[in-house]
Amino acid sequence: AQFVALHDSLTQLPNRKMFAAFAGKVIDEAKHNNTQFAVMVIDLDNFKTINDLYGHEVGDQQLARVGEILSGQLRETDIIARLGSDEFAILETSIHQPSNAQEVAQRLISTVNNRTNALPDGSTISMSIGVSVFPDDGDKIDALLQHAETAMSKAKQGGKNNHLFFEQGMEASMRERRSIEARLRVAIENDGFTVNFQPIVDSATQSPQSFEALVRWEDDELGFVPPDKFIPIAEETGIIIDIGKQVLHKACSEAVKWPQHIRVAVNLSVVQFEQPGLLDTVKTVLKQTGLPASRLDLEITESIVLSNSERTLEILEKLKASGARISMDDFGTGYSSLSYLQSFPFDKLKIDRVFVSDLETDDNNAAIVKAVVAMGKSLEMCVVAEGVERNSQLARLRSIGCSEVQGYLIAKPMPGDMVEQFIKESRKPPHIVSA
Ligand code: C2E
Ligand code: MG
Ligand code: MG
Repeated sequence: AQFVALHDSLTQLPNRKMFAAFAGKVIDEAKHNNTQFAVMVIDLDNFKTINDLYGHEVGDQQLARVGEILSGQLRETDIIARLGSDEFAILETSIHQPSNAQEVAQRLISTVNNRTNALPDGSTISMSIGVSVFPDDGDKIDALLQHAETAMSKAKQGGKNNHLFFEQGMEASMRERRSIEARLRVAIENDGFTVNFQPIVDSATQSPQSFEALVRWEDDELGFVPPDKFIPIAEETGIIIDIGKQVLHKACSEAVKWPQHIRVAVNLSVVQFEQPGLLDTVKTVLKQTGLPASRLDLEITESIVLSNSERTLEILEKLKASGARISMDDFGTGYSSLSYLQSFPFDKLKIDRVFVSDLETDDNNAAIVKAVVAMGKSLEMCVVAEGVERNSQLARLRSIGCSEVQGYLIAKPMPGDMVEQFIKESRKPPHIVSA
């Protein structure tokens, strides 16, 4: 009975209670001997997705396997526990902290990565680790665990599959994130998001071809929060699934009012691809709003194609088969691997604005834009330049042969009820003269 109360039944590892009891002794000794030790909190990356996709049995197997691998990496004086769900803790006693903890953390990450059995999609387990050090980061186990946990969350935010040491500033930024998260949940319930639309026009005639839907959020307490700030938090917490649905719905119900040759572009997050049900959501929204699939562009970023590719490709193909078109957004900013352009027939490439911003003066960027336009032509993809702010950029893009442009020069994102007026006015001759 003693063993049961102090151990976790799935991994046979000590539980939180036993960990805390053991830590008490270690703290006493460390105080007495004036030594340091490290506490690590380890959390598996994307574990919820693994459970959702492959079921709890597969999830449990992976957890047990990770517990085994981690235990095998420790010395006798260290202790490991399973804190709960997919979270482990390690108390690492070594006289050379924190440099030793650094090495151990990296080794744990790479060992688990190499030795976990591949999932059905070929991926293996990665994890994020937060480290706190006694006595600098706390002289009680609760504080040490909490600080290690904070550092672990930061490591997740920074892209996962990594370790971070606790730093003082982390807590303030965690509080801000938590308040954004809490307010996002309120906004989801209260229909608190709106959508603006930014035209994408033909570079020669400037007639609008489509409008990109861009989410906007003005909160009662936090004020206006830009998407670059809240989207990453929404992604990390899964709230993006609901935001994405609401944006898609709003975008399609506006677009159905526009002239039939004008399309709407909606951004999709990588998290929406990790969840089952994206295809159903898109189909349902199209049905509800009455927008033909052929008028919908879905914008994805390079990270989507690079993550977990087989399944992603399958979803992309199904989305495309449903009649929607797929655009590669922010092209050039990701991992610059061109091979994925072969693996999926994108309809459109959107060149990121970093290459457009100093197009007239930076020969390297001009060369990149030229190359992308040429490549787009040969692969029969429409190429759009993002972030066009000056006439001189537009002129250059036209001479390069870039077919469509988007940016403040044409128009800033506007509320849905201004779109029809914009379309009407754009029927007049182009208002921008080429330089
Ligand atoms: P994005 O998809 O690349 O969207 C284009 C961003 O560039 C928009 O910023 C737009 O306002 C901005 N922009 C357009 N023209 C210019 C210009 O001439 N100069 C400059 N400096 N900026 C320009 P926004 O609306 O702040 O959105 C930022 C990012 O947030 C988007 O980048 C997209 O990745 C994400 N996002 C926005 N709405 C959604 C959404 O509904 N779902 C998801 N998943 N992501 C979204
Ligand atoms: Mg976009
Ligand atoms: Mg973009």
